[in-house]
Amino acid sequence: MTAERYDVAVIGYGPTGAALAARLGQLGIRTLVVEKEPDVFPLPRAAHFDHEIMRVWQRLGIAEKILPETRPIGAYEFRNAKGEVLLEFGEHERTPSGWRSSYMFHQPALEKTLREAVARLPSVTIRLRTSFAALLENGADGVRVRIEGEGGAREIAARYLIACDGAASPVRRALGIAQFDFEFDEPWLVIDAIAEAGGDALPQIGLQLCNPERPTTFMPMSPGRYRWEFMIKPGEAPAAMLEDARIAQLLEPWNRTTALRLDRKAVYRFHGLAAKTWRAGRVLLAGDAAHQMPPFAGQGLCSGVRDAENLAWKLAAVLSGEAGEALLDTYQVEREPHVRGIIETAIFMGRVVCTLDPEAAAARDRDMIAGRAATAGAPPIPPLPPLSGGAFSDLPLAGALAPQAVLGEGEACRRADDAWPDGFLYAGLEAAAARDCDWPLRVGIIDVGRDPFGAAIAAMLKGAGETGLLIRPDRYVFGAGSPQTLAAALARALRPA
Ligand SMILES: Cc1cc2nc3c(=O)[nH]c(=O)nc-3n(C[C@H](O)[C@H](O)[C@H](O)COP(=O)(O)OP(=O)(O)OC[C@H]3O[C@@H](n4cnc5c(N)ncnc54)[C@H](O)[C@@H]3O)c2cc1C
Repeated sequence: MTAERYDVAVIGYGPTGAALAARLGQLGIRTLVVEKEPDVFPLPRAAHFDHEIMRVWQRLGIAEKILPETRPIGAYEFRNAKGEVLLEFGEHERTPSGWRSSYMFHQPALEKTLREAVARLPSVTIRLRTSFAALLENGADGVRVRIEGEGGAREIAARYLIACDGAASPVRRALGIAQFDFEFDEPWLVIDAIAEAGGDALPQIGLQLCNPERPTTFMPMSPGRYRWEFMIKPGEAPAAMLEDARIAQLLEPWNRTTALRLDRKAVYRFHGLAAKTWRAGRVLLAGDAAHQMPPFAGQGLCSGVRDAENLAWKLAAVLSGEAGEALLDTYQVEREPHVRGIIETAIFMGRVVCTLDPEAAAARDRDMIAGRAATAGAPPIPPLPPLSGGAFSDLPLAGALAPQAVLGEGEACRRADDAWPDGFLYAGLEAAAARDCDWPLRVGIIDVGRDPFGAAIAAMLKGAGETGLLIRPDRYVFGAGSPQTLAAALARALRPA
Protein backbone atom coordinates (compact mmCIF):
# COMPACT_ATOMS: atom_id res chain seq x y z
CA MET A 1 0.00 0.00 0.00
CA THR A 2 1.47 3.40 -0.93
CA ALA A 3 1.30 6.03 1.77
CA GLU A 4 -0.83 9.19 1.32
CA ARG A 5 1.53 12.15 0.88
CA TYR A 6 1.30 15.64 2.38
CA ASP A 7 3.65 18.55 2.73
CA VAL A 8 2.95 18.91 6.43
CA ALA A 9 1.34 16.52 8.90
CA VAL A 10 0.05 18.17 12.08
CA ILE A 11 -0.55 15.79 14.98
CA GLY A 12 -3.12 17.23 17.40
CA TYR A 13 -5.98 19.63 16.69
CA GLY A 14 -5.92 21.71 19.86
CA PRO A 15 -5.45 25.48 19.53
CA THR A 16 -1.82 25.16 18.41
CA GLY A 17 -2.54 22.54 15.74
CA ALA A 18 -5.63 24.44 14.57
CA ALA A 19 -3.81 27.80 14.37
CA LEU A 20 -1.00 26.17 12.43
CA ALA A 21 -3.38 24.33 10.08
CA ALA A 22 -5.29 27.57 9.49
CA ARG A 23 -2.16 29.49 8.54
CA LEU A 24 -0.75 26.63 6.39
CA GLY A 25 -4.12 26.35 4.69
CA GLN A 26 -4.12 30.09 3.95
CA LEU A 27 -0.73 29.58 2.32
CA GLY A 28 -2.16 26.72 0.22
CA ILE A 29 0.12 24.07 1.75
CA ARG A 30 -1.08 20.47 1.52
CA THR A 31 -1.65 19.71 5.20
CA LEU A 32 -3.06 16.74 7.11
CA VAL A 33 -4.32 17.18 10.68
CA VAL A 34 -4.63 14.05 12.80
CA GLU A 35 -6.66 14.28 16.03
CA LYS A 36 -7.55 11.37 18.28
CA GLU A 37 -10.69 12.91 19.83
CA PRO A 38 -14.03 13.45 18.06
CA ASP A 39 -14.44 17.04 19.30
CA VAL A 40 -12.64 19.92 21.05
CA PHE A 41 -11.35 19.37 24.61
CA PRO A 42 -14.35 20.11 26.89
CA LEU A 43 -12.72 20.74 30.32
CA PRO A 44 -11.81 24.20 31.68
CA ARG A 45 -8.45 25.47 30.49
CA ALA A 46 -7.44 28.81 28.90
CA ALA A 47 -9.47 31.88 29.82
CA HIS A 48 -7.21 34.69 28.55
CA PHE A 49 -5.39 35.66 25.36
CA ASP A 50 -3.51 38.84 24.57
CA HIS A 51 -3.49 41.49 21.84
CA GLU A 52 -0.94 39.69 19.71
CA ILE A 53 -3.13 36.60 19.57
CA MET A 54 -6.21 38.68 18.68
CA ARG A 55 -4.17 40.02 15.78
CA VAL A 56 -3.51 36.42 14.69
CA TRP A 57 -7.27 35.71 14.82
CA GLN A 58 -7.79 38.85 12.74
CA ARG A 59 -5.40 37.64 10.06
CA LEU A 60 -7.09 34.24 10.11
CA GLY A 61 -10.40 36.06 9.45
CA ILE A 62 -12.13 35.08 12.71
CA ALA A 63 -11.62 38.11 15.00
CA GLU A 64 -15.07 39.55 14.32
CA LYS A 65 -16.68 36.19 15.13
CA ILE A 66 -14.65 35.79 18.32
CA LEU A 67 -14.94 39.35 19.62
CA PRO A 68 -18.58 39.17 20.88
CA GLU A 69 -17.66 35.99 22.80
CA THR A 70 -14.87 37.76 24.71
CA ARG A 71 -14.70 40.47 27.30
CA PRO A 72 -11.94 42.81 28.42
CA ILE A 73 -10.54 42.04 31.87
CA GLY A 74 -10.16 45.60 33.16
CA ALA A 75 -7.34 44.76 35.58
CA TYR A 76 -5.57 41.80 37.16
CA GLU A 77 -4.73 42.08 40.85
CA PHE A 78 -2.90 39.90 43.35
CA ARG A 79 -4.36 40.58 46.83
CA ASN A 80 -3.39 39.28 50.25
CA ALA A 81 -5.79 37.90 52.86
CA LYS A 82 -6.53 41.44 54.07
CA GLY A 83 -7.42 42.56 50.54
CA GLU A 84 -4.27 44.67 50.12
CA VAL A 85 -2.87 44.76 46.58
CA LEU A 86 0.49 42.98 46.14
CA LEU A 87 0.72 43.17 42.35
CA GLU A 88 -1.44 44.93 39.80
CA PHE A 89 -1.56 44.74 36.01
CA GLY A 90 -3.59 47.33 34.17
CA GLU A 91 -5.43 46.80 30.92
CA HIS A 92 -4.87 48.96 27.86
CA GLU A 93 -7.37 49.75 25.14
CA ARG A 94 -4.68 50.26 22.51
CA THR A 95 -1.51 48.21 22.05
CA PRO A 96 0.98 47.97 19.16
CA SER A 97 -1.10 45.08 17.82
CA GLY A 98 -4.10 47.37 17.29
CA TRP A 99 -6.26 45.52 19.82
CA ARG A 100 -6.89 45.72 23.59
CA SER A 101 -4.17 44.22 25.76
CA SER A 102 -6.23 41.30 27.12
CA TYR A 103 -9.33 39.31 26.24
CA MET A 104 -11.15 36.79 28.42
CA PHE A 105 -12.78 33.94 26.51
CA HIS A 106 -14.15 30.39 26.50
CA GLN A 107 -11.61 28.00 24.97
CA PRO A 108 -14.01 25.41 23.43
CA ALA A 109 -15.99 28.19 21.66
CA LEU A 110 -12.79 29.70 20.29
CA GLU A 111 -11.49 26.32 19.13
CA LYS A 112 -14.77 25.61 17.32
CA THR A 113 -14.55 28.93 15.48
CA LEU A 114 -10.96 28.20 14.55
CA ARG A 115 -11.92 24.75 13.26
CA GLU A 116 -14.72 26.27 11.14
CA ALA A 117 -12.10 28.52 9.53
CA VAL A 118 -9.80 25.56 8.86
CA ALA A 119 -12.69 23.58 7.34
CA ARG A 120 -13.02 26.29 4.63
CA LEU A 121 -9.41 25.78 3.46
CA PRO A 122 -9.22 23.28 0.60
CA SER A 123 -5.56 22.31 1.08
CA VAL A 124 -6.16 21.05 4.64
CA THR A 125 -7.47 17.53 5.36
CA ILE A 126 -8.77 16.81 8.86
CA ARG A 127 -8.92 13.31 10.34
CA LEU A 128 -10.71 13.23 13.68
CA ARG A 129 -10.95 10.05 15.83
CA THR A 130 -7.53 9.15 14.42
CA SER A 131 -4.37 8.72 16.47
CA PHE A 132 -0.72 9.09 15.75
CA ALA A 133 0.53 5.54 16.51
CA ALA A 134 4.20 5.37 15.42
CA LEU A 135 6.94 7.32 13.71
CA LEU A 136 8.20 4.85 11.10
CA GLU A 137 10.80 7.03 9.40
CA ASN A 138 12.32 10.46 10.00
CA GLY A 139 14.84 10.96 7.22
CA ALA A 140 16.26 13.46 4.77
CA ASP A 141 13.19 13.27 2.50
CA GLY A 142 10.53 13.45 5.16
CA VAL A 143 8.60 11.35 7.63
CA ARG A 144 6.48 8.24 7.46
CA VAL A 145 3.93 7.79 10.20
CA ARG A 146 1.40 5.13 11.17
CA ILE A 147 -1.97 6.51 12.16
CA GLU A 148 -4.93 4.55 13.48
CA GLY A 149 -8.57 5.49 13.06
CA GLU A 150 -11.99 3.96 12.64
CA GLY A 151 -11.02 2.42 9.30
CA GLY A 152 -7.94 0.76 10.87
CA ALA A 153 -4.25 1.60 10.61
CA ARG A 154 -2.71 3.39 7.64
CA GLU A 155 0.56 4.97 6.68
CA ILE A 156 1.02 8.60 5.71
CA ALA A 157 4.09 10.39 4.41
CA ALA A 158 4.85 14.08 4.87
CA ARG A 159 7.81 16.33 4.23
CA TYR A 160 7.48 17.68 7.78
CA LEU A 161 5.59 16.61 10.86
CA ILE A 162 4.59 19.10 13.55
CA ALA A 163 3.75 17.63 16.94
CA CYS A 164 0.95 19.76 18.40
CA ASP A 165 -0.18 16.81 20.48
CA GLY A 166 -0.26 18.46 23.89
CA ALA A 167 1.52 18.07 27.20
CA ALA A 168 1.78 14.26 27.07
CA SER A 169 2.93 14.45 23.41
CA PRO A 170 3.20 10.88 22.10
CA VAL A 171 5.39 12.24 19.28
CA ARG A 172 7.84 13.83 21.75
CA ARG A 173 7.92 10.53 23.62
CA ALA A 174 8.47 8.51 20.43
CA LEU A 175 11.50 10.71 19.75
CA GLY A 176 12.78 10.28 23.32
CA ILE A 177 13.03 14.07 23.80
CA ALA A 178 13.56 14.94 27.48
CA GLN A 179 12.07 18.00 29.17
CA PHE A 180 13.68 20.65 31.37
CA ASP A 181 11.75 20.88 34.65
CA PHE A 182 11.35 24.37 36.16
CA GLU A 183 10.47 22.68 39.46
CA PHE A 184 7.02 24.01 40.04
CA ASP A 185 4.32 21.45 40.64
CA GLU A 186 1.08 22.37 42.42
CA PRO A 187 -2.38 20.71 42.31
CA TRP A 188 -5.39 22.99 41.70
CA LEU A 189 -9.13 22.54 41.28
CA VAL A 190 -10.50 24.51 38.29
CA ILE A 191 -14.17 25.42 37.97
CA ASP A 192 -16.22 27.33 35.43
CA ALA A 193 -19.66 28.53 36.48
CA ILE A 194 -22.43 30.41 34.73
CA ALA A 195 -23.93 33.38 36.57
CA GLU A 196 -27.68 32.89 36.18
CA ALA A 197 -28.51 36.59 36.39
CA GLY A 198 -25.50 37.91 34.50
CA GLY A 199 -23.11 38.13 37.45
CA ASP A 200 -23.05 41.92 37.78
CA ALA A 201 -22.44 41.61 41.53
CA LEU A 202 -19.25 39.58 40.94
CA PRO A 203 -15.93 41.39 40.53
CA GLN A 204 -15.32 42.39 36.90
CA ILE A 205 -11.53 42.12 37.20
CA GLY A 206 -9.13 39.15 37.48
CA LEU A 207 -8.05 38.33 41.04
CA GLN A 208 -5.39 36.17 42.62
CA LEU A 209 -6.42 35.90 46.25
CA CYS A 210 -3.12 35.10 47.96
CA ASN A 211 -4.69 33.88 51.17
CA PRO A 212 -2.60 31.07 52.71
CA GLU A 213 -5.86 29.56 54.00
CA ARG A 214 -6.90 28.84 50.38
CA PRO A 215 -5.07 30.44 47.47
CA THR A 216 -7.79 31.21 44.90
CA THR A 217 -8.00 32.58 41.37
CA PHE A 218 -11.10 34.40 40.13
CA MET A 219 -11.58 35.47 36.50
CA PRO A 220 -14.49 36.86 34.52
CA MET A 221 -14.46 34.79 31.30
CA SER A 222 -16.70 35.08 28.26
CA PRO A 223 -19.96 36.98 28.93
CA GLY A 224 -21.91 35.32 31.77
CA ARG A 225 -19.20 32.78 32.55
CA TYR A 226 -16.76 32.96 35.47
CA ARG A 227 -13.67 30.97 36.46
CA TRP A 228 -12.51 29.92 39.92
CA GLU A 229 -9.34 28.03 40.67
CA PHE A 230 -8.69 26.72 44.20
CA MET A 231 -5.32 25.41 45.32
CA ILE A 232 -5.57 21.86 46.69
CA LYS A 233 -3.75 21.79 50.02
CA PRO A 234 -1.48 18.97 51.25
CA GLY A 235 -3.62 16.15 52.63
CA GLU A 236 -6.69 17.03 50.49
CA ALA A 237 -7.70 14.34 47.99
CA PRO A 238 -8.20 15.71 44.46
CA ALA A 239 -11.18 13.38 43.90
CA ALA A 240 -12.94 14.73 47.01
CA MET A 241 -12.31 18.31 45.86
CA LEU A 242 -14.13 17.50 42.61
CA GLU A 243 -17.36 16.52 44.37
CA ASP A 244 -20.20 18.94 43.67
CA ALA A 245 -20.97 19.37 47.39
CA ARG A 246 -17.34 20.39 48.07
CA ILE A 247 -17.39 22.78 45.11
CA ALA A 248 -20.65 24.31 46.39
CA GLN A 249 -18.89 24.90 49.74
CA LEU A 250 -15.94 26.59 48.05
CA LEU A 251 -18.23 28.78 45.95
CA GLU A 252 -20.54 29.59 48.87
CA PRO A 253 -19.03 33.02 49.64
CA TRP A 254 -19.46 34.04 45.99
CA ASN A 255 -22.90 32.46 45.66
CA ARG A 256 -24.28 34.81 48.26
CA THR A 257 -24.37 37.62 45.72
CA THR A 258 -25.02 35.70 42.51
CA ALA A 259 -26.74 32.39 41.72
CA LEU A 260 -24.09 30.25 40.07
CA ARG A 261 -24.55 27.12 37.97
CA LEU A 262 -21.54 24.81 37.78
CA ASP A 263 -20.51 24.37 34.15
CA ARG A 264 -17.20 22.44 34.13
CA LYS A 265 -14.66 21.20 36.64
CA ALA A 266 -11.24 19.56 36.57
CA VAL A 267 -8.14 19.02 38.68
CA TYR A 268 -4.73 19.82 37.20
CA ARG A 269 -1.15 19.83 38.38
CA PHE A 270 0.26 23.21 37.37
CA HIS A 271 3.90 22.89 36.30
CA GLY A 272 6.67 24.37 34.16
CA LEU A 273 8.40 22.22 31.57
CA ALA A 274 10.23 22.84 28.28
CA ALA A 275 11.38 20.23 25.76
CA LYS A 276 15.16 20.17 25.50
CA THR A 277 15.05 20.11 21.71
CA TRP A 278 12.16 21.33 19.57
CA ARG A 279 13.35 19.76 16.34
CA ALA A 280 14.46 16.23 15.52
CA GLY A 281 15.10 15.83 11.79
CA ARG A 282 11.84 16.49 9.97
CA VAL A 283 9.78 16.65 13.19
CA LEU A 284 9.17 19.86 15.17
CA LEU A 285 7.34 20.31 18.46
CA ALA A 286 4.88 23.16 19.09
CA GLY A 287 2.51 24.33 21.83
CA ASP A 288 2.18 22.28 25.01
CA ALA A 289 4.21 19.49 23.37
CA ALA A 290 7.19 21.88 23.51
CA HIS A 291 6.46 23.79 26.71
CA GLN A 292 4.03 23.92 29.62
CA MET A 293 3.53 26.58 32.23
CA PRO A 294 1.27 27.29 35.20
CA PRO A 295 -1.70 29.42 34.10
CA PHE A 296 -1.03 32.49 36.30
CA ALA A 297 0.18 34.59 33.34
CA GLY A 298 -2.52 33.25 30.97
CA GLN A 299 0.06 32.53 28.29
CA GLY A 300 0.16 28.76 27.53
CA LEU A 301 -2.24 28.85 24.57
CA CYS A 302 -0.84 32.23 23.50
CA SER A 303 2.64 30.69 23.35
CA GLY A 304 1.39 27.80 21.23
CA VAL A 305 -0.23 30.21 18.77
CA ARG A 306 3.04 32.18 18.60
CA ASP A 307 4.84 28.92 17.82
CA ALA A 308 2.38 28.24 15.00
CA GLU A 309 2.87 31.73 13.54
CA ASN A 310 6.64 31.41 13.75
CA LEU A 311 6.68 28.01 12.08
CA ALA A 312 4.10 28.49 9.33
CA TRP A 313 5.96 31.02 7.18
CA LYS A 314 9.26 29.20 7.67
CA LEU A 315 7.75 25.88 6.58
CA ALA A 316 6.21 27.62 3.55
CA ALA A 317 9.53 29.22 2.58
CA VAL A 318 11.43 25.93 2.94
CA LEU A 319 8.80 23.92 1.07
CA SER A 320 8.81 26.41 -1.83
CA GLY A 321 12.63 26.35 -2.00
CA GLU A 322 12.87 30.07 -1.17
CA ALA A 323 14.70 29.21 2.03
CA GLY A 324 17.17 26.56 3.07
CA GLU A 325 16.20 23.75 5.45
CA ALA A 326 18.32 25.27 8.23
CA LEU A 327 15.76 28.11 8.49
CA LEU A 328 13.70 25.67 10.56
CA ASP A 329 16.45 25.59 13.21
CA THR A 330 15.76 29.26 13.88
CA TYR A 331 12.33 28.31 15.23
CA GLN A 332 13.65 27.08 18.60
CA VAL A 333 16.36 29.76 18.68
CA GLU A 334 13.66 32.45 18.50
CA ARG A 335 10.86 30.88 20.45
CA GLU A 336 12.53 29.08 23.35
CA PRO A 337 14.00 32.11 25.20
CA HIS A 338 10.67 33.93 24.80
CA VAL A 339 8.72 31.01 26.23
CA ARG A 340 11.24 30.39 29.01
CA GLY A 341 10.92 34.04 30.07
CA ILE A 342 7.15 33.64 30.23
CA ILE A 343 7.37 30.34 32.14
CA GLU A 344 9.63 32.01 34.71
CA THR A 345 7.18 34.91 35.04
CA ALA A 346 4.25 32.49 35.46
CA ILE A 347 6.19 30.55 38.12
CA PHE A 348 7.11 33.78 39.93
CA MET A 349 3.39 34.63 40.01
CA GLY A 350 2.59 31.06 41.07
CA ARG A 351 5.02 31.20 43.99
CA VAL A 352 3.43 34.45 45.16
CA VAL A 353 -0.02 32.84 45.07
CA CYS A 354 0.78 29.31 46.29
CA THR A 355 2.20 30.32 49.68
CA LEU A 356 0.52 28.23 52.38
CA ASP A 357 2.75 29.04 55.35
CA PRO A 358 1.22 32.01 57.22
CA GLU A 359 4.61 33.40 58.30
CA ALA A 360 6.01 33.17 54.77
CA ALA A 361 2.81 34.83 53.52
CA ALA A 362 3.19 37.67 56.04
CA ALA A 363 6.83 38.21 54.95
CA ARG A 364 5.75 38.13 51.29
CA ASP A 365 3.06 40.72 52.00
CA ARG A 366 5.49 43.05 53.79
CA ASP A 367 8.10 42.79 51.00
CA MET A 368 5.66 43.19 48.14
CA ILE A 369 3.75 46.08 49.67
CA ALA A 370 7.05 47.86 50.39
CA GLY A 371 8.25 47.06 46.84
CA ARG A 372 5.06 48.52 45.37
CA ALA A 373 5.42 51.69 47.41
CA ALA A 374 9.05 52.04 46.24
CA THR A 375 8.16 51.60 42.55
CA ALA A 376 4.92 53.62 42.69
CA GLY A 377 2.86 50.51 41.93
CA ALA A 378 4.64 49.59 38.69
CA PRO A 379 4.54 45.79 38.26
CA PRO A 380 8.01 44.25 38.83
CA ILE A 381 7.50 42.08 35.77
CA PRO A 382 8.51 43.26 32.31
CA PRO A 383 6.07 43.03 29.40
CA LEU A 384 6.51 40.13 26.99
CA PRO A 385 10.12 40.02 25.78
CA PRO A 386 10.93 40.81 22.12
CA LEU A 387 12.23 38.00 19.92
CA SER A 388 15.86 37.93 18.83
CA GLY A 389 18.53 35.87 17.06
CA GLY A 390 17.43 33.15 14.65
CA ALA A 391 16.00 34.51 11.41
CA PHE A 392 16.08 38.15 12.54
CA SER A 393 18.65 40.54 11.11
CA ASP A 394 21.14 42.31 13.34
CA LEU A 395 19.67 45.61 12.09
CA PRO A 396 17.85 48.12 14.33
CA LEU A 397 14.35 47.30 15.61
CA ALA A 398 14.75 43.58 14.81
CA GLY A 399 12.48 41.41 16.97
CA ALA A 400 10.00 44.16 17.91
CA LEU A 401 6.30 43.75 17.17
CA ALA A 402 5.39 45.74 14.07
CA PRO A 403 2.65 48.18 15.06
CA GLN A 404 -0.76 47.84 13.43
CA ALA A 405 -2.51 51.17 12.83
CA VAL A 406 -6.25 51.43 13.56
CA LEU A 407 -8.33 54.12 11.86
CA GLY A 408 -11.66 55.18 13.31
CA GLU A 409 -13.41 53.97 16.43
CA GLY A 410 -15.62 51.11 17.52
CA GLU A 411 -17.17 48.70 15.05
CA ALA A 412 -16.49 50.99 12.10
CA CYS A 413 -12.73 51.03 12.69
CA ARG A 414 -10.33 49.67 10.09
CA ARG A 415 -7.00 47.95 10.73
CA ALA A 416 -3.85 47.92 8.65
CA ASP A 417 -3.44 44.13 8.41
CA ASP A 418 -6.84 43.92 6.67
CA ALA A 419 -5.70 46.41 4.06
CA TRP A 420 -2.08 45.31 3.62
CA PRO A 421 -0.95 42.11 1.92
CA ASP A 422 0.00 39.04 3.97
CA GLY A 423 3.56 37.77 3.89
CA PHE A 424 6.74 39.85 4.07
CA LEU A 425 6.21 43.62 3.89
CA TYR A 426 8.55 46.50 3.29
CA ALA A 427 6.95 49.50 5.04
CA GLY A 428 8.95 52.68 4.67
CA LEU A 429 9.72 55.94 2.96
CA GLU A 430 11.78 54.48 0.08
CA ALA A 431 8.92 52.63 -1.58
CA ALA A 432 10.16 53.29 -5.16
CA ALA A 433 13.61 51.86 -4.37
CA ALA A 434 11.96 48.95 -2.57
CA ARG A 435 9.91 48.16 -5.70
CA ASP A 436 13.10 47.99 -7.78
CA CYS A 437 14.97 45.95 -5.21
CA ASP A 438 15.95 42.32 -5.79
CA TRP A 439 14.18 40.63 -2.88
CA PRO A 440 14.83 36.89 -2.32
CA LEU A 441 11.08 36.25 -2.06
CA ARG A 442 7.84 38.14 -2.61
CA VAL A 443 7.68 41.29 -0.51
CA GLY A 444 4.68 43.64 -0.41
CA ILE A 445 5.59 47.33 -0.54
CA ILE A 446 3.89 49.96 1.64
CA ASP A 447 4.71 53.64 1.23
CA VAL A 448 4.21 54.81 4.81
CA GLY A 449 4.29 58.45 3.72
CA ARG A 450 1.17 57.97 1.55
CA ASP A 451 -0.63 54.92 2.91
CA PRO A 452 -3.56 55.85 5.21
CA PHE A 453 -2.33 53.27 7.75
CA GLY A 454 1.33 54.34 7.51
CA ALA A 455 1.51 56.77 10.45
CA ALA A 456 2.29 54.25 13.23
CA ILE A 457 5.23 52.82 11.34
CA ALA A 458 6.38 56.27 10.18
CA ALA A 459 6.49 57.29 13.86
CA MET A 460 8.48 54.18 14.78
CA LEU A 461 10.95 54.89 11.96
CA LYS A 462 11.29 58.53 12.98
CA GLY A 463 12.02 57.51 16.58
CA ALA A 464 14.77 55.16 15.40
CA GLY A 465 16.14 57.49 12.70
CA GLU A 466 15.47 54.85 10.00
CA THR A 467 13.75 54.96 6.60
CA GLY A 468 12.12 51.55 6.30
CA LEU A 469 11.14 48.32 8.06
CA LEU A 470 11.00 44.80 6.77
CA ILE A 471 8.12 43.06 8.55
CA ARG A 472 7.93 39.27 8.66
CA PRO A 473 4.73 37.33 7.96
CA ASP A 474 4.33 36.79 11.74
CA ARG A 475 4.29 40.60 12.09
CA TYR A 476 7.62 40.86 13.91
CA VAL A 477 10.13 43.35 12.54
CA PHE A 478 12.96 41.63 10.65
CA GLY A 479 15.02 44.85 10.80
CA ALA A 480 15.17 48.48 9.75
CA GLY A 481 17.32 49.99 6.99
CA SER A 482 17.39 50.78 3.29
CA PRO A 483 15.66 48.34 0.90
CA GLN A 484 19.03 47.09 -0.38
CA THR A 485 20.37 46.46 3.13
CA LEU A 486 17.17 44.68 4.13
CA ALA A 487 17.08 42.54 0.97
CA ALA A 488 20.69 41.41 1.45
CA ALA A 489 20.10 40.61 5.14
CA LEU A 490 16.93 38.68 4.27
CA ALA A 491 18.77 36.62 1.64
CA ARG A 492 21.33 35.63 4.30
CA ALA A 493 18.67 34.91 6.92
CA LEU A 494 16.72 32.60 4.60
CA ARG A 495 19.79 30.42 4.04
CA PRO A 496 21.53 30.19 7.42
CA ALA A 497 24.85 28.30 7.44
C1 LIG B 1 -6.46 25.53 34.19
C2 LIG B 1 -5.76 26.04 32.98
C3 LIG B 1 -5.87 27.38 32.66
C4 LIG B 1 -5.21 27.88 31.54
N1 LIG B 1 -5.34 29.21 31.25
C5 LIG B 1 -4.73 29.71 30.16
C6 LIG B 1 -4.95 31.06 29.78
O1 LIG B 1 -5.69 31.79 30.41
N2 LIG B 1 -4.31 31.52 28.66
C7 LIG B 1 -3.52 30.72 27.91
O2 LIG B 1 -2.96 31.22 26.92
N3 LIG B 1 -3.33 29.41 28.23
C8 LIG B 1 -3.92 28.89 29.31
N4 LIG B 1 -3.80 27.56 29.60
C9 LIG B 1 -2.99 26.70 28.74
C10 LIG B 1 -3.71 26.25 27.47
O3 LIG B 1 -4.97 25.70 27.74
C11 LIG B 1 -2.82 25.26 26.75
O4 LIG B 1 -1.52 25.80 26.66
C12 LIG B 1 -3.34 24.97 25.34
O5 LIG B 1 -4.61 24.39 25.38
C13 LIG B 1 -2.36 24.05 24.62
O6 LIG B 1 -2.77 23.89 23.32
P1 LIG B 1 -2.12 22.77 22.41
O7 LIG B 1 -2.89 22.80 21.13
O8 LIG B 1 -0.65 22.96 22.36
O9 LIG B 1 -2.37 21.40 23.19
P2 LIG B 1 -3.79 20.70 23.50
O10 LIG B 1 -4.86 21.70 23.61
O11 LIG B 1 -3.56 19.80 24.65
O12 LIG B 1 -4.09 19.86 22.20
C14 LIG B 1 -3.38 18.68 21.90
C15 LIG B 1 -4.25 17.82 21.02
O13 LIG B 1 -3.50 16.67 20.62
C16 LIG B 1 -4.37 15.56 20.62
N5 LIG B 1 -3.58 14.33 20.70
C17 LIG B 1 -2.87 13.87 21.75
N6 LIG B 1 -2.31 12.68 21.45
C18 LIG B 1 -2.66 12.41 20.17
C19 LIG B 1 -2.38 11.32 19.30
N7 LIG B 1 -1.66 10.24 19.67
N8 LIG B 1 -2.89 11.35 18.05
C20 LIG B 1 -3.66 12.40 17.64
N9 LIG B 1 -3.96 13.45 18.45
C21 LIG B 1 -3.46 13.45 19.70
C22 LIG B 1 -5.25 15.81 21.84
O14 LIG B 1 -6.44 15.06 21.78
C23 LIG B 1 -5.48 17.31 21.75
O15 LIG B 1 -6.63 17.64 21.01
C24 LIG B 1 -4.44 27.02 30.72
C25 LIG B 1 -4.34 25.67 31.04
C26 LIG B 1 -4.99 25.18 32.15
C27 LIG B 1 -4.89 23.72 32.46
